[in-house]
Amino acid sequence: MIQSVEPEVTLVENKKYESRTSKKQSSILEIIRLVIGITISLLGIYLPMPKVVGIIVLIIGYLILLYRTIKNAVKLFISSKKINENFLITISVIGAFLVGEQMEGLMVITLYEIGKILESKAINKTRKSISELMDIRPEYANLKISENEGKQVSPNEVKIGDTIIIKQGEKVPIDGIVTKGSASLDTSSLTGESLLYHVREGDEVLSGSINEQGLIELKVTKDYENSTVSKILELVENATDKKAKTETFVNKASRIYTPIVILLAVIVAIILPIISKDITYSESIYRSLIFLVISCPCAIAISVPLSYFSGIGKSSKSGILVKGSDYLDILKNVKEIAFDKTGTLTKGKFEIRKVDVYDKSYTEDDILKYVVMGESFSNHPIAKSILKLVNIEFNKEDVKEFKEISGKGLSYNFNENKILIGNSSLVNYDKDKTEGTKIFVKLNNDVIGAVSLADTVKEGTKDALDKLKERGIKVKIYTGDNQRIAARVADELEVKNVESEMLPTDKYKALEKLLKKYKNTNKKVAFVGDGINDSPVLALADVGISMGGVGSQSAIEASDVVIMTDSIDKLNEAIDISKKTNKIIKQNLIFAIAVKILILALSTIGMAQMSLAVFADVGVTLITIVNTLRILR
Ligand code: ADP
Ligand code: MG
Repeated sequence: MIQSVEPEVTLVENKKYESRTSKKQSSILEIIRLVIGITISLLGIYLPMPKVVGIIVLIIGYLILLYRTIKNAVKLFISSKKINENFLITISVIGAFLVGEQMEGLMVITLYEIGKILESKAINKTRKSISELMDIRPEYANLKISENEGKQVSPNEVKIGDTIIIKQGEKVPIDGIVTKGSASLDTSSLTGESLLYHVREGDEVLSGSINEQGLIELKVTKDYENSTVSKILELVENATDKKAKTETFVNKASRIYTPIVILLAVIVAIILPIISKDITYSESIYRSLIFLVISCPCAIAISVPLSYFSGIGKSSKSGILVKGSDYLDILKNVKEIAFDKTGTLTKGKFEIRKVDVYDKSYTEDDILKYVVMGESFSNHPIAKSILKLVNIEFNKEDVKEFKEISGKGLSYNFNENKILIGNSSLVNYDKDKTEGTKIFVKLNNDVIGAVSLADTVKEGTKDALDKLKERGIKVKIYTGDNQRIAARVADELEVKNVESEMLPTDKYKALEKLLKKYKNTNKKVAFVGDGINDSPVLALADVGISMGGVGSQSAIEASDVVIMTDSIDKLNEAIDISKKTNKIIKQNLIFAIAVKILILALSTIGMAQMSLAVFADVGVTLITIVNTLRILR
């Protein structure tokens, strides 16, 4: 029942202006309909005329006011055998009419209709605030046609390979690579952090950022649909209607609620006259109708999804993409977090410390060349860093049978030689025990050299972890790297629990064990990774969180929460938003239920009219919507 009265909250309208004017028109039409309906009904009740004519006029008035509500109720009932507040209002009004409370019936519809109009206004306001928070949808792209000619087109019309121009103050509409010029980009709408980011020829640019200064030309690398901006908007828009993994409390409650309420109403109607001789059947039916109106959960049904929607909008604004209301809900219950190390706690940007040659028939350049040949096919942070640092030409076709060995390294064939590039466990080499990450090169049966790499911990990581610990969250590190480095990083971050030299499958097993520990509690376990080879673990965790998601398709797909920046502190922010959203949902629930109980008490002692019940319901709904707006602040 509650799902069925969920407001249609979608984030951004494609044709902003058109729909805004039509919305305004439709609310004026609604008001006109209301006035006409009320006037005709009043004429039917009060104008001196034959009784039958009066009743017919009144029914016409009622129908003008009620027809949409009836239509919605019937439609829902036929399609899914569910009843919602439209249904409750309809039977209450018909019931009031039948027991001779025509004026009361009229009040009920009028209040209900006014409530509907106000409610849609309030929801639109929330929706507008959220889309303003996330103002990243580009309106146009400047397509370059010839050397000195550009044309404004819709971002949808731009194709991969086209060149677009981004002038100062404009939004980058589509992902691409800078081919000309340089600029300072403001990525705050994507990451929530107002850092200027300088780009020049050859740099990758993500859509959604704003050109603060400069002029650049981009070669488009993705069509609009697959650009960062579209992906983010799509995520946020779908977040609230994505089917929840775990049923939320409200959903569960609503399924048993409706039948119970109807049963109780029937009991009230039948039993009251039996217990008390003073109560007639028409009175008891009237009271059971009031009971039905009171039990209508409109306020809850509207404010709960709206709250989650606001929370998701708010976190997106801070560069935290939450993929569904259940994940936003779970974040506040996270009690233990396992972190991947490389690229998550550390920068994942390696420097080359030194190159060792073990077999003197090779040079340092030979060692580097073997490494580069393999890494140019890998996506690992190690690969990306090495390729940035060394530039060696080779023929890509010479590299045959390339294979990535998850958590260890890679292998390929070159000139009939089998080459392994990776850590000591991959090449079976434990003679070199110096500190740091070492990438060994094995040619057939011999380890011929190694490249020492160094990675540093991200700034602010220790503070962020400290804050997590202060909340009572247990922190641990799962890494594929060797024990010495793992211990050094753990030491620096003051993390006691660290497991090293883990393959992705080991991480999976360790997490499985952790999940088991909390199985029958409401405590949750999160895994935070960079999404490179952690996808199975990200998917297994109660909440899988990927970091630095900007541009990494696999990270966006594998995780439940994507943090667009590299900052671990966003976890604290995400948990705060989760807590705040939950607090407001609770406030709304308690308030709505308290008012209902009060009205119920008043009606049992005969002090509440049906219209008071409707008035209270409409009022509570509006107040809870306004309260929900606080999440966005
Ligand atoms: P982490 O758990 O710290 O993110 P990974 O599981 O991604 O680490 O990798 C574990 C180890 O495997 C790395 O420390 C590295 O020694 C080795 N390795 C993984 N991928 C590569 C690669 N492409 N090139 C070289 N070594 C690699
Ligand atoms: Mg990793």
